[in-house]
Amino acid sequence: MISRSIASFLTSLEEVNTITPRASLPTYALISVHGDPTADIGKEGAGGQNIYVRQLGLGLAQQGARVDIFTRRESPDQAEIVELAPGCRTIRLTAGPAQFIPRTELFEYLPDFVAAWLDFQQRSGRRYNLVHTNYWLSGWVGLQLKFRLGLPLVHTYHSIGAVKYQNLSDPPAIAAVRHGVEWACLEQADRIIATSPQEEADMRRLLSRHGRVQVIPCGIDTQHFSAVTRYEARQQLGLDPQRSLLLYAGRFDERKGIETLVRACAQLSDPYQLYLVGGARPGGQDNQEQERIRALVTELGLADVTTFTGRIDQAQLPPYYAAADICIVPSYYEPFGLVAIEAMAAGTPVIASAVGGLNYTVIPHKTGCLVPPRDVSALAQAITRLLQNPEHRLAYGTAAQQWVKANFSCDGVARQVLHLYQTLTLKESLKTARIGQGLSAELAAQLQALIESKGIKPTGSQALDQWLQTLGRKAPSTVVPAQRLAS
Ligand code: UDP
Repeated sequence: MISRSIASFLTSLEEVNTITPRASLPTYALISVHGDPTADIGKEGAGGQNIYVRQLGLGLAQQGARVDIFTRRESPDQAEIVELAPGCRTIRLTAGPAQFIPRTELFEYLPDFVAAWLDFQQRSGRRYNLVHTNYWLSGWVGLQLKFRLGLPLVHTYHSIGAVKYQNLSDPPAIAAVRHGVEWACLEQADRIIATSPQEEADMRRLLSRHGRVQVIPCGIDTQHFSAVTRYEARQQLGLDPQRSLLLYAGRFDERKGIETLVRACAQLSDPYQLYLVGGARPGGQDNQEQERIRALVTELGLADVTTFTGRIDQAQLPPYYAAADICIVPSYYEPFGLVAIEAMAAGTPVIASAVGGLNYTVIPHKTGCLVPPRDVSALAQAITRLLQNPEHRLAYGTAAQQWVKANFSCDGVARQVLHLYQTLTLKESLKTARIGQGLSAELAAQLQALIESKGIKPTGSQALDQWLQTLGRKAPSTVVPAQRLAS
């Protein structure tokens, strides 16, 4: 138990810093086997997860950490190492053929991925303080690295098989393997990041009551998505300022519920135009889904009011969100749903299915509306109500923008994740400092931040206590009660 003056201890750190060498920067490995952070987003195999790891890597690097994002090479001409920003790199490892492989067929190449990761670490001489895995395939890799190297493991699911497959009568063969890995991740990882309270509840209900979970949402570059006004956006896109615009953005995947949206549009009596933003891989499943939706649009007589824009690069997406009167996220299953917060960041109200993370990000009658998934009439009614009420649209849009800025900015999210990493690696950092007989400025700052945030855990407190004893400091009166530190 710590019963010492933390304040005077921290003051003393400054003296130590002046006479000891700096320890190396904290270095973290983000693993995203199938989600390359530099890929073209908005088509099969490249969506929210790619954005998540990229924004997180950049955000962590901005806070002074070093981050390598490991992904699988999908083409022979892809560079092995790409620097995204100072301190943040993408590392592409060769595991299986250098071509796109659907995630349902990637499991067999994971041992190669682990071997390539270990080889890279050996070659580069980089020592990672922690591994953060994304999606169950990477979770499997992370479990191997944790058991072999003793590295702390953080895992984010992005999607849970047990939720995705719960209403399927004929789930794919890989579903059972996935379930086992997802269960092991929850029980064995040092921390799970749930991106919404709903996701945490799903884990507890469908995977295990054991394991430590912390809710930290996904973050976006809120400035980027709020940079254009509606007027400018409509001008840029050459849109009629009077005509209502309904927007869908995302991949073409059956579970995204685009069919429900199109059928709902067929019931609208007010004039509107519908933009479906998202690309497709030639010959891919998303291409089939796009063609199916195109045929439905024609069959329902909506071809004149519907535009298939194709994939739009994220750099060019803000005007689409800003120009829209309503952004619709009609998913049947959505673990988080970045599109909803991107639209809200642009000041556009959202009508979404009441599923998964959308229940958390969209506040009914404040930032938009929630409707039951697959319910065509409920969606048509919600769209009609909002189209006919410009005052509500304005009020929801304004509230939505504030809500997203306050809760889902990538800086704020990266800070929370960094704090979690620091908590989990504190013991190890102190050990290194002890071996080196010194304390770096980074570690001193890290301790200060942890202590101030009261985030320090009992194991950390013990390590800190031991370390203090090695330094041979006296024990003056208590300034910060130990129970506060350990809470
Ligand atoms: N997106 C894009 N271009 C497009 C369509 C979508 O960049 O043409 C991006 C969108 O901005 C969002 C991501 O793709 O960041 C989709 O993430 P979401 O979490 O909504 O869905 P997921 O793809 O993960 O299921």
